[in-house]
Amino acid sequence: MKLVFLGPPGVGKGTHADIIVNDLGIPRYSTGDIFREILKDSSPLGEKLENYVNSGALVPDEIVFETVEGVLSNGRNENGWLLDGYPRNKNQAELLDDFLKRRDEKLDCAIYLYAPVEVLVNRLTNRRVCPDCKAIYNLVNSPPEKEGVCDRCGEVLMRREDDKSETIKKRISIFQKDFKPLEEYYENAGILLKVLAEGNLEDITGKIRKGLKIG
Ligand code: AMP
Repeated sequence: MKLVFLGPPGVGKGTHADIIVNDLGIPRYSTGDIFREILKDSSPLGEKLENYVNSGALVPDEIVFETVEGVLSNGRNENGWLLDGYPRNKNQAELLDDFLKRRDEKLDCAIYLYAPVEVLVNRLTNRRVCPDCKAIYNLVNSPPEKEGVCDRCGEVLMRREDDKSETIKKRISIFQKDFKPLEEYYENAGILLKVLAEGNLEDITGKIRKGLKIG
């Protein structure tokens, strides 16, 4: 299955994407995680990305698509893949579709998770991540067993550079500005699955699995 996960920052794309790729045995490619990995070492690409990623602005479409094309062309994708955080606008969706068309492939589903803004701000403020294995925690709803330490790999947890309150507001407003045409694009293609991502984690996962007919 070839899937994309759409939705505002803090809606839980990473958390749910992890569960679904585990169900399906496919890789998850998060453009945000790939960019943060590139930023760890100094490189010309890293220098270009740094200002965008750390301030919450969108990286230009051509640079993002090059990254996406790279992982989709070279990864272990026999059973499909899931893109988390791509596309962010209609132009990125069209670039992806052109790429798939050239390979005689198509997207199966665009999963759009949504939630009220207060819920997003609250989740982002309380989010902590593992810089090593990328596990995601919430200090209120799903804290690590030992404070400040990743349950999976023992690494010290951190707050993302862009999870600061001014940047959080900016990222949510950028999402709101660009999203409607993207939503309509997938709605018109007949592959949009809209899921309210508020409340119990299991219930949300259940709705996604049901929509994908995998559970
Ligand atoms: P995320 O982890 O998905 O919240 O992404 C973190 C940051 O990476 C974003 O705020 C952007 O600066 C950049 N980024 C990730 N994916 C994209 C994308 N599809 N288009 C543009 N910028 C992106």
